[in-house]
Amino acid sequence: MAICADCGQEMTKLVSCTRGSYEIRGKVLNRLRYPTTGNDPELNGHCHDCGTPPGGLHHPGCDMEECPNDGCAAREAVGSDRAQVITCGCIGFGDMNGLL
Ligand SMILES: [Zn+2]
Ligand SMILES: [Zn+2]
Ligand SMILES: [Zn+2]
Repeated sequence: MAICADCGQEMTKLVSCTRGSYEIRGKVLNRLRYPTTGNDPELNGHCHDCGTPPGGLHHPGCDMEECPNDGCAAREAVGSDRAQVITCGCIGFGDMNGLL
């Protein structure tokens, strides 16, 4: 049993989250969806961490979710356009509770 704090759905049922955006430093940014295609075999099928289907939205806290913030410091640090939103620091998980 793992209930998403944002959408209140049971994640083991492999459903997409209903939360579509984050507020990062005063800007509302659309969340990045789980890709439907990719070369990474991990991207085939449901998200291994939160169970969202291809094309769905991850449940906040998922380690596969990428940061939607163009100014993300972690993206710049690794020279990539991908950073995990749970570790990049744009969204504090303490803050997330206040954004419900
Ligand atoms: Zn959710
Ligand atoms: Zn996920
Ligand atoms: Zn970030």
